[in-house]
Amino acid sequence: MKLLEDRIRRDGDVLPGNVLKINSFLNHQVDPELMMAAGQEFARLFKDSGVTKVLTCEASGIAPGVMAAYELHVPMVFARKKKPATLNDAVYWADVYSYTKKVTNQICVEQKFLHNDDKLLIIDDFLANGEAVKGMISVAQQANAQVVGVGVVVAKTFQGGTAWLKEHNVRLEALAKIASLADGQVHFAGEQ
Ligand code: 5GP
Repeated sequence: MKLLEDRIRRDGDVLPGNVLKINSFLNHQVDPELMMAAGQEFARLFKDSGVTKVLTCEASGIAPGVMAAYELHVPMVFARKKKPATLNDAVYWADVYSYTKKVTNQICVEQKFLHNDDKLLIIDDFLANGEAVKGMISVAQQANAQVVGVGVVVAKTFQGGTAWLKEHNVRLEALAKIASLADGQVHFAGEQ
């Protein structure tokens, strides 16, 4: 998505450890117009997949996730990273190691929000090693729901998540594909 690549080029900062900081439009301050454009693109890509629900993870998956769900006219459910005191009901959960925070969180979703006839579109902000997406796939499997695909705003294709999804025949759509962050520069896939 050219709009997104241009924005990453303009506002993205490359941090040590192959981390791209895009706090000014996705990970802290959110640009709703850009997120709406991302949601429209996800909806266009998955319009024929019979999606019944978008599954994402708090916090940074929520903005693109809700926009995709809005465009697909389905609900969005976000996995929580801490089980809230108000959440007494049965939950599906999975361990997720955080690439940026270097800690393992348990993500959980109340069982009543996922059903065995659901066709889920998993949305997240970034795909790096694939831990967050694997956690959401695990949650979907626990509910016997079908995962029709994964949509991420940014895939760092040089890390393991992209290859893992391909090996497991999970459809992946990334709106920006970053092939390298070498020398503090963003190199998009397919660029010279
Ligand atoms: P994974 O689980 O695929 O290894 O990493 C994905 C998760 O880690 C995303 O949900 C995102 O929150 C975070 N993450 C991974 N790489 C980056 C990055 O380069 N920049 C930012 N801002 N977050 C990242």
